[in-house]
Amino acid sequence: MKCIEVEKQIDSLLDGEVSSVIREEVEHHFKECRICGQTHEKLRAVNELLMKPIPVPDPKRLDEFVMDAFYRLRQSCNCAGKQNNPKNSRRDRKKAGCSFDDARR
Ligand SMILES: [Zn+2]
Repeated sequence: MKCIEVEKQIDSLLDGEVSSVIREEVEHHFKECRICGQTHEKLRAVNELLMKPIPVPDPKRLDEFVMDAFYRLRQSCNCAGKQNNPKNSRRDRKKAGCSFDDARR
């Protein structure tokens, strides 16, 4: 199979819409041809990402959802928790690479 033919099959392959004969031919080509193999890998990764369910917050608990995201953002900061310490000046936090401060601006 030529690259151009393989390219046409990649989408169908990812959707599981190709016959086992075609699948074998295409997969064999991926082993021989790095470019098509990489294209397939990239598309597969994108596909996987798109298939992931996105958590939809319950509208009644939206405030909880937002506060939770806010809390996680704060925890992920280099100076996690320290911003509540009055001894930590804004400059100190900036030195520690505080992304929380940036996000608030
Ligand atoms: Zn190829």
